[in-house]
Amino acid sequence: MGLLTIRKYGDPILRETCQPPNEISDATRLLIDDMAKTMYEYKGVGLAAPQVGVRERVVIVDSNQELICLVNPEILSREGREVASEGCLSVPDVEVDVKRATKIIVEGLDREGKRVKLTLDGLAARAMQHEIDHLNGILIIDYLSFVKRQLVKKQLLKKRPRKSGTPVRGRNAIFFCEIHMRDKSKLKTGRCHQITKWTQRTRNGIVSPTKMCRN
Ligand SMILES: [Zn+2]
Repeated sequence: MGLLTIRKYGDPILRETCQPPNEISDATRLLIDDMAKTMYEYKGVGLAAPQVGVRERVVIVDSNQELICLVNPEILSREGREVASEGCLSVPDVEVDVKRATKIIVEGLDREGKRVKLTLDGLAARAMQHEIDHLNGILIIDYLSFVKRQLVKKQLLKKRPRKSGTPVRGRNAIFFCEIHMRDKSKLKTGRCHQITKWTQRTRNGIVSPTKMCRN
């Protein structure tokens, strides 16, 4: 079992609509186990597959020391409405008031591929609705007003860590490939010249130039 990397706001996979897996295989079960390990490590109450870079309709929720995993979850009915504050491991340091049903009936497949129908309320119902949103490319910030959303988006993009290989200063600054960016001790051997495509944000939008490692 391994810890997975949580994809953060700005990663395009978080905006995709996920597909049902073809079958529930050992790979699906391994994904569920790794997702659970990751969720507990980061103290989340739920996690959806796209948050760990997998475009499949798989979610897990644990709101009360009981792990629920569902493949292809489908909400059959909703009852009650309540506004409460939510956070998200993919949208760090942001809390958003979201109105959700207080009780839901959800159907899906369990880790063995058996069809199950669950009645959830309280935090479990809220977390399940939040995770199903992820499968449809919806994030908590989408529940904010337009003006607030723009503000939060700007803050989130500013906070993103600098990508390896990003030049340190200026447009024509020296570029290093990921390996040489990480391992500076190998610099100045002058033999790499690896050409990498990467994304650059400029005044005119986003461009994807190719650059040659100057090591
Ligand atoms: Zn989330």
